[in-house]
Amino acid sequence: MSGRNILVINSGSSSVKFALVNENSDEFPLQGLAERLGSDDAVLNWTFEGEKHVTSLHGATHKEAFERLLPMVQKASHGSLHGIGHRIVHGGAHFTKATQLRPDVIEVIEAAAVLAPLHNPAGLIGVQASLELYPDLPQFAVFDTAFHQTMPDHAFRYAVPEVLYTDHHVRRYGFHGTSHMYVSRKAAEITNLPVEDSCWLIAHLGNGSSTCAVVNGESRDTSMGLTPLEGLVMGTRSGDVDPSLANHLNRTLGWDLAKIETVLTKESGLLGLSGLSNDMRTLLEASAQGNEKATLAIEVFCYRLAKSLASMSCALPRLDGLVFTGGIGENADIVRSKTIGYLPFFNITLDEEANQRCVRGVAGQISAANSTRVLVVPTNEERQIAVETLALLDA
Ligand code: AMP
Repeated sequence: MSGRNILVINSGSSSVKFALVNENSDEFPLQGLAERLGSDDAVLNWTFEGEKHVTSLHGATHKEAFERLLPMVQKASHGSLHGIGHRIVHGGAHFTKATQLRPDVIEVIEAAAVLAPLHNPAGLIGVQASLELYPDLPQFAVFDTAFHQTMPDHAFRYAVPEVLYTDHHVRRYGFHGTSHMYVSRKAAEITNLPVEDSCWLIAHLGNGSSTCAVVNGESRDTSMGLTPLEGLVMGTRSGDVDPSLANHLNRTLGWDLAKIETVLTKESGLLGLSGLSNDMRTLLEASAQGNEKATLAIEVFCYRLAKSLASMSCALPRLDGLVFTGGIGENADIVRSKTIGYLPFFNITLDEEANQRCVRGVAGQISAANSTRVLVVPTNEERQIAVETLALLDA
């Protein structure tokens, strides 16, 4: 296949997600996931030319997983790999765009780990392994936070003493930037509007969820903040709560900060509300069968999402369209229609048939004629990371 090949790596503490992206093709020749790394039941799942494969990696480290990957990448790229793009969650306020992984850049990513203690060190494990195995290839970091560095001060500052911002980096950063960027550009493309003269509200709804106001290709506000806990109700994350909740739980239940963090990040959200699942599909099925807690969880999710979109609209001079993406946004027509039901002043009329049709990867407009535009646009973070990597190779 002609065109350059980029390997996209998303490394977690015990997993490596990867995709080989060819600049001329929408399909990934190779993609997969190495999971449970470091344990006896470490496993590698991958799809090569449409065929699924699985193999045990018994006790493999990240580096060993990369070693297994190497011949596959060679084969799928016909021996012609041009660069590697690594997803890094937190770039702090330092990185406004993707950047080549040099020792000084790695130091800054390490320093930003205080803001993303679960994610940045995990991302760096993948970076180190990959740099050792591919020392001659240009490698780049693409940050979830970078797209939001265009937010104005009044959107990113918290109303707390200034010294916490100036000396301790306490501010709103925002996440899912790669997805918000990809989806807003795609929305402009689909509607024949120039990126640099278009205004969007994006709802990225997956296990993690966030909204974003995008003006002329730039993020102007987003619902996640210092960490990915702020904002919407998510699979297991609470989203916004009263900041006094931590004190209250400490005073009344004696919970320490670690316990409170675990509850708010791993036991709350859809899971906490429903007591059943963090998975929207499971909740929609349970709700259809009369499960009241599942119904409440869905209602809270949609109402809070609508509130977030309404508040994000403050960042827009006009609205060219509302865009749904992510596993829930791309598939759950009921969530889309319920959310829009809570936005009566947005002048949206849904095309119900189109709303039901736009699932499982089908993109399109789901609003009726004369309505404020509503789109479903499947996200593609791997492609966006590859696009940014290619742009840096060209620079
Ligand atoms: P993501 O993190 O983007 O992969 O999204 C995961 C979320 O998408 C989970 O809550 C899934 O239940 C949800 N999801 C995936 N497919 C569907 C579907 N067909 N209907 C409703 N929710 C779905």
